[in-house]
Amino acid sequence: MRVRVNKDLCTACGVCEGLVPEVFSLENGLVAEVLLDPVPEELEDLVREAAENCPDGAIEIEEED
Ligand code: SF4
Repeated sequence: MRVRVNKDLCTACGVCEGLVPEVFSLENGLVAEVLLDPVPEELEDLVREAAENCPDGAIEIEEED
């Protein structure tokens, strides 16, 4: 799985970091940054959950075979 944050949509709410701090970081305070891409298999479900719960639809997932 590949994951990106659309910086034009992200409002730095922190939901993604709260769910998967291994993958998303709000350290710069402006937009969420992706720390791990591709996403390790064991974190894929949490990343899907983060994408579903992102209030701005900013998390873009690309599933791989
Ligand atoms: S949940 Fe969405 S809007 Fe909130 S910080 Fe993460 S990417 Fe940005």
